[in-house]
Amino acid sequence: IDFGFQQVKRQEKESMVANVFHSVAAKYDLMNDVMSMGIHRIWKRFTIDCSGVRAGQKVLDLAGGTGDLTAKFSRLVGESGEVVLADINNSMLKVGRDKLRDKGIVGNVSYVQANAEALPFPDDHFDCITIAFGLRNVTDKDAALRSMFRVLKPGGRLLVLEFSKPVVAPLSKVYDAYSFHVLPKMGQLIVNDPDSYRYLAESIRMHPDQETLKGMMEQAGFEQTSYHNLTGGIVALHRGFKF
Ligand code: SAM
Repeated sequence: IDFGFQQVKRQEKESMVANVFHSVAAKYDLMNDVMSMGIHRIWKRFTIDCSGVRAGQKVLDLAGGTGDLTAKFSRLVGESGEVVLADINNSMLKVGRDKLRDKGIVGNVSYVQANAEALPFPDDHFDCITIAFGLRNVTDKDAALRSMFRVLKPGGRLLVLEFSKPVVAPLSKVYDAYSFHVLPKMGQLIVNDPDSYRYLAESIRMHPDQETLKGMMEQAGFEQTSYHNLTGGIVALHRGFKF
């Protein structure tokens, strides 16, 4: 009976996540800029700077959505490298593919519809995997981390950019008020969809904190794990290696 209940919960979460991203895909980039006041660009820039990615390498931008990181990696790896933007949601993939093609980013980028929990790539394939603001939407995060570990080359690194736990209490209160009151109103105004942004606020609150996620990465096999808090821990960048 328990297992059946878990199954229903799992399907509920998966279809809710699918609906959220189908619904917000067209205005996702605009909402990102408005909601984070443009700061997501700095968090992403920092992620790229920590990636150590060089020309000729293979990168997986998992839960890559509208492709902000993919665009930057495409320039870094050059013609001899490759970037795979993988996402479970075909609406997000389509918006990402159209945006990157409009910018002339073609040639070394491919698009794959895939679930992070069961990646359709060979073992030991990528030099670097990023998952930005994606892991909290995944139902079985441990399975996803194991899957990422499998497809990473020995010596390769995983970078997880995700909302986390603010490190100072007053910031935490302001941030909670912002997430639960301001975000749904913005969602209502801009995409006429307050529920999707209510889900996003709730998923942020439920997501494992810095130390818990670090432990989960270690459980999946990653070594030399560390994290760096950004904007007072509102966001954290976790890093781990496969040896
Ligand atoms: N990485 C992009 C960025 O930073 O702007 C997009 C982040 S967006 C908040 C989260 C993305 O995760 C969505 O595009 C969603 O479809 C994707 N996603 C959710 N669950 C997933 C899963 N199980 N496997 C792969 N992608 C998933």
